[in-house]
Amino acid sequence: MNITPLSEWLTIKQKPLIISGPCSAESEQQMLNTAMGLSDIGQVTIFRAGIWKPRTRPDLFRGVGEKGLKWLQQIKDTTGLKTAVEVATPYHVEKCLKASVDVLWIGARTVVNPFAVEEISNAFKGVGIPVMVKNPVVPDIKTWIGALERVHKAGVEKLIAIHRGFYYYKKSIYRNSPMWEIPIELKRLHPHLPVLCDPSHICGKKELLFEVSQKAMDLEMDGLMIESHINPEQAMTDAAQQITPVELKNLLKRLVIRQKSGNIDFEDKLEAFRSEIDKLDAELLEILSRRMDIVKEIAAYKKTNKITILQLKRWSNIITDRVESGITKGINKDFLLKLLQIIHKETIDIQSKIINPKNP
Ligand code: PEP
Ligand code: MN
Repeated sequence: MNITPLSEWLTIKQKPLIISGPCSAESEQQMLNTAMGLSDIGQVTIFRAGIWKPRTRPDLFRGVGEKGLKWLQQIKDTTGLKTAVEVATPYHVEKCLKASVDVLWIGARTVVNPFAVEEISNAFKGVGIPVMVKNPVVPDIKTWIGALERVHKAGVEKLIAIHRGFYYYKKSIYRNSPMWEIPIELKRLHPHLPVLCDPSHICGKKELLFEVSQKAMDLEMDGLMIESHINPEQAMTDAAQQITPVELKNLLKRLVIRQKSGNIDFEDKLEAFRSEIDKLDAELLEILSRRMDIVKEIAAYKKTNKITILQLKRWSNIITDRVESGITKGINKDFLLKLLQIIHKETIDIQSKIINPKNP
C-alpha cells in the first residue's frame, strides 16, 4: 500500500499523535467545554466525537446526528483542533464532508462487513480525506487488512489503523482483549502504515488507561485515541472509560516516550510470544475447567448406577493413549506421565466428594 506519512499531512505539535474527545456528542455545551479543556493541554491535535452511535440495543441513545456536526465546526473555528467522526454509511460520509470534518474513521462493528466497507470506501473516492480504520471486533488480522486495502483502493493514501482491542470469549480485566501480537503483525506487514492505539475501548474503565497507553508507546505505536468528557459520570455512552481533559493532561504527562531502541524487532517478537502464551494458558485453563465439569457429570452418573469410581482398565487405556499421542507431538514422556497422574488424582478426588459426600 502506498501510504502518505502522518508528518506530510498533519502538523503534529508533538509526537505521539493524540486524538481525544467524547465517545458521543451530546450537547453543544458538553462539546465546547470538552474541546476547550483539550485544547488547553496543547498535545491534542484532533478532536473526536461520535455523531451516529452503533449501539447494541435499538432503544439506547444513538447519537445526536447531524446537528452535532455544527458543534464540531464551531470547535474547529474556536480552538483550531482538527475534527474526526465515525462513519458507517455513505450518507454519513456525505454529511461529514459537507460539514468540513477533517478525518473520518470506520468503527469496529462496520469493519467486519466487507460490503459496508466497500460502500463507504466508494464515498471516499476523489475526496482526499484522511481515513482511520479500527480493527474489527473479532481477532482476525485479515479482515482488518482487507478493510484497509478496500479504503486504500478507493484512493485514500492518508490512511491510519486504530487498534481498539478484540472480542475474546474469556472474561478478563479488559473490555476488549488487546492481543498486542495483532497490531504488531500489522506493523510488520505494513511498516509505513501509522498505527494508533485506542486504550479507551480496550480498557472499558479509566483505571487501566495509563498502563495500556504506556504499553502502546513502548510498542512504538504512532499515537493514542482516548475518550474524554467534561463530566464523565454523566456521559450518555461509555461513561466508565471516559476521563476529563485534566485527567488526560495528567495521563499524558506521566507517559514515558522512550527512544526507539533500535531493538524494536526483538521487543515486538518477545511481546508477540508472550501474548500467544497468555492466550494459550487461558485456553488451557478453560479446557481443564470443562474437563472437570464432565468429570462431575460422570460422578453423578456413576452414583446413580452404583458403579465404582476407579475403572482401572479405562485408566490404563488413557495412559497408553495420551502418552503415545503426546510423544508424537514432541512432549517428554516423564512429564506426560506426571501430568496425567496429577489430573487423574484430581479426577478421583472430585468424584469421591460427589459419590461419598460425607466420607470422601
Ligand atoms: C467509538 O470510538 O466510540 C466506538 C464506537 O468505537 P469502536 O468502533 O472501537 O467500538
Ligand atoms: Mn465509545
